[in-house]
Order: sequence, then C-alpha cells, then structure tokens
Amino acid sequence: MKIDFVEIKTKIYKKKAIVISIITILFIILFSLLGIKAAEAYNKKLITAKIQNEYQNIELPNVQQNIIEENVNNIQEKEETTENVSINQIPVYSENAKKKMKEIYISDQKIAYLTFDDGPSQTVTPQILDLLKKENIKATFFVLGSRVKVNPDIVKREYEEGHYIANHGYTHEYSKIYKSVDNVISEYNKTEKEIRKAINVDEYESHLFRFPGGSNGGIYAKLKSKAKKELNKKNISFIDWNALTNDAAGANTKKKLIKNLKSTVKNKNSVVILMHDASNKILTYETLPDVIKYLREQGYSFDNFYTIMK
Ligand SMILES: [Zn+2]
Repeated sequence: MKIDFVEIKTKIYKKKAIVISIITILFIILFSLLGIKAAEAYNKKLITAKIQNEYQNIELPNVQQNIIEENVNNIQEKEETTENVSINQIPVYSENAKKKMKEIYISDQKIAYLTFDDGPSQTVTPQILDLLKKENIKATFFVLGSRVKVNPDIVKREYEEGHYIANHGYTHEYSKIYKSVDNVISEYNKTEKEIRKAINVDEYESHLFRFPGGSNGGIYAKLKSKAKKELNKKNISFIDWNALTNDAAGANTKKKLIKNLKSTVKNKNSVVILMHDASNKILTYETLPDVIKYLREQGYSFDNFYTIMK
C-alpha cells in the first residue's frame, strides 16, 4: 500500500488549521467579552463622574434645594438649642452674689459690663443683638415691662442668646414709679412677670433692678433710698453704672459718644457701661462697633451679671 504522504500531511495541516482556527476564534470571543466588560466599566465610571460633576455644578430643583436647606437648618437649630440650654441660666442672688455685687467695681482684671436700658425696641435691639452675636459678647438688658409686653420675642431672643435680662421698672415715668416705695416694688414685680411670660421660664427672677434715672439724687432721692432698703429685704439687688457714652442725652455724634466713653472708662478696671436700646437710639447701635473696638484695645474682656448672680 502506497502511503500518500502528501495527503496525510495535508490532512494533518487541515486538522491543525481547524484547531488553530477554533482556538483563535475562542480567543477572539474571550477578548471581545473582556473588552465589552471593560468598556462597560469605563462607561459606568464616566457616567458616575459626569453625574457627580453635574450635581456639583448645577442648582438642584427648588423643592430638593429647599428640603436640603430645611434639613441643614434643622440640624443648625438643634445645635443652637443645645447650646442655648447650656447658656440659659436662672440668676441666683446668693450671699456670695450679694458680696460680689457690693464689690463689683473692685477688680484686678479689666472687665466691661455692657448694659442697655429702656428696651426692647424693634428698631435698635435686634441690630445690637446681631452685633453682640458676631462679636461673641454677652451683655445685660435692663428691660421695661411695658416694652417687654409689646416685644416679647425680642426678650426671648436676648435670653436665648445668653444675655442677662434685668429689670428697669414698668413705666419709666418718674412721677408714677417714685410716687411710693410700693410703686417701685409693684413696677419691679410687674416687669418680672412680663419677662417670665416672654422667655417662657416660670422660675426666672432677675434679682437685679436699675432705678430709672439712677438710684441716687434728684427730687426723689429720699424715696429711692427707702426703696433700696425694701428691695434689699426682698432679695433684689440694684446697680447703676460707672461709665457711659451719654447716648441718653447730649451726645449726638459717634465722636461725642466715644469721647464720653473714653473719659468715663479711664483708669477703671471694672466698668458698668450705660447705653440704651430704645427705639430712637440708632446712634447707639451705630457706635457700638467702635465702643467694642476701643474696649478691646484697652484690654477689657466682656461679661454680664450671670457671673455674679450664681
Ligand atoms: Zn432708663
């Protein structure tokens, strides 16, 4: 039998060719599949990046934006509330506080107590509060009961932002409040009641009164001195001031207010500064940044009466 080598060789080549072809096809399929997968993954990446980029750049539709803002506000509000709880205090007129009040002007350190009388008013008080917040200063507001009654929200804000709410009587009419000692006490009580209502804290008692027009001198000097004794019996302290901008009368320019401040603060470590936040005291608010700046430059730190009344 004659072996046809050529034929056998051809057959072997053909088989080899088929196997190689199959393997090649399989490889092609495999690589194609891998290629598609890779392309898909790449595409996915591209799309994600594009979406992220779009979210960063485009404004979200209003509704969505509002929801996000609301959530952010809620979180902030919650944080503020937590903060407020720790700031809000109930004054305590302890024996130690009595002693400290008597010695308030004796101090090794430079301390400034900013005090605002005759408010709250819608035109001036919120501006002052904004500024105090910005400067991180806690002050004291000697409020009038009659004003608290019409602007309770502002007093609530004062309290919630850590300021001391003290008592300046109800009417601020000398002929009424200084008619008798009873009237002084009754105006004090009436104002305390309005403060409690405004801040919604039943146990709040300021224990701190500022006589309208000051606690000394004038035609009501005798009555005032009797009233002081009565206040003392009732565990109520009183405080005047030892520095002022004279924003109540006379000074009608920033320059004059600052000049008065400088001359009355001079050589004093502990200063209780009298200012006003009645509705017409725009200039007081406008000058306050300079007042704060000057006191800081002189090395004063700020405090309110919570430091004492505890
Ligand atoms: Zn006053």
